[in-house]
Amino acid sequence: MRNNYSKEKTIVCKGEYLNEEGRTIIKDDKEVISVPFLLPLEEAEITYSKVGKHYHTRINKLIKTSNDRVKARCPHYTVCGGCQMMHMSYDAQLKHKTKIVKRLMKSIPVDPVIGMDEPWFYRNKVISSFAHQKKVTSGFYKMYSHDVVTIQKCYVQDQLADPIIKTINSLANKYKLRVYNEDTKNGFLRHVLIRTGHVTGEVLIVLVVSNKVFPGKSGFVKDLIKSHPEIKTIVQNVNSRKTSVVLGDQEIVLYGNGQIKDKLCGLTFSISSKSFYQINPVQTEKLYNLANEMANINKNDIVVDTYSGIGTISLIAAKKAKQVFGVEINKDAVKNAIKNAKVNQIKNVRFITGDAGHTMVQMAKEKMPITTVIMDPPRSGSDEKFLSSVVKLKPQKIVYISCNPVTQKRDMDFLIKRGYKVKKVVPVDMFPMTHHVETCALLTK
Ligand code: SAH
Repeated sequence: MRNNYSKEKTIVCKGEYLNEEGRTIIKDDKEVISVPFLLPLEEAEITYSKVGKHYHTRINKLIKTSNDRVKARCPHYTVCGGCQMMHMSYDAQLKHKTKIVKRLMKSIPVDPVIGMDEPWFYRNKVISSFAHQKKVTSGFYKMYSHDVVTIQKCYVQDQLADPIIKTINSLANKYKLRVYNEDTKNGFLRHVLIRTGHVTGEVLIVLVVSNKVFPGKSGFVKDLIKSHPEIKTIVQNVNSRKTSVVLGDQEIVLYGNGQIKDKLCGLTFSISSKSFYQINPVQTEKLYNLANEMANINKNDIVVDTYSGIGTISLIAAKKAKQVFGVEINKDAVKNAIKNAKVNQIKNVRFITGDAGHTMVQMAKEKMPITTVIMDPPRSGSDEKFLSSVVKLKPQKIVYISCNPVTQKRDMDFLIKRGYKVKKVVPVDMFPMTHHVETCALLTK
């Protein structure tokens, strides 16, 4: 590995501007380098080397600091790869995110980002990876590597998670469970995924392991529930593949029914290990209320909520609409969605399992009188098949929620060329301390 590195070079530099990844751009002769943990206008002595097309940088000394700089609360910050912006005041983070979205959207009007009042301990989903360091411990992967940094306390995840992870580590030692080694493929424990219901306080534990055979299973489960009665269900997920994808296909429910409940916008939702559920519940309510406000749904509206996950947006929209169709590719999520409609006694919604693009083509063929399209695709955005069917369906309103404004802009440009106008884009900070930004846009015919 070491051979790929160019020789190290030490320079004194001045930060220019922040990029989309929360890194500050500096220049050294012809080299344009993005430096993590540096801020614009700061002066620093840094050492860098080139690895392929990328640079590895290290700040040796800050010579002049920015007013936006704060001391990062987390002792693991800069080693753990989870957060990128904790050295920046929250106010400055928000200003930066608005600026990034404005830069990307060009002439489209962008509102200031909607931030959090208390931007800490917000994540309701945590994935911790096991490591063997004399005994079983766990943590997050280091930046640029597959080594685990042991984490004592994480400042962005739900505070219920840390003590549970500690108990799981000590039980792993008590029951002599071995940590999986990716090279030798020996060992059992790979990751633990914890999901918490923000309103209900219910906890779902998924133990990702390499094998169906779980030595000491019943004792382990009994001890774990006894220490943490908030745990409502425990799932054993078997992943024997050499992959960076955390979850395997096979699941065995060890305790409870494999699901927890949470509440959002006054509705109750069941969540299982694999279904998508927004990770910041406080901001999700703001995002969904915003999307609904933008869609301005009334009793005459027939709405398609595409990429609908467990049906959160569909069910919220159904309270005001005449009829809602939810379209989602993940079978488990659709099962959850159907159950969620029943639990909330919502009858004017139908969930369709399938590819959003394909389903939209069908709907366009059948000339369905859709008035509103809500779309919330994954980072890669939507596709032409989907977008051209939307154009054929001619909805008056399109609400586009996105966790990647780059692909959102690309898709919106497609719709703008075909007669739609973007009224406005509103960024919502779903991921404080990280560079990620979510946006919600309204397009009208
Ligand atoms: N709107 C939901 C989920 C958004 S995440 C919420 O706010 O909770 C994006 C969802 O799109 C995921 O549930 C994923 O399974 C689904 N998805 C990904 N590709 C898809 C496709 N081609 N067609 C339909 N759904 C898809």
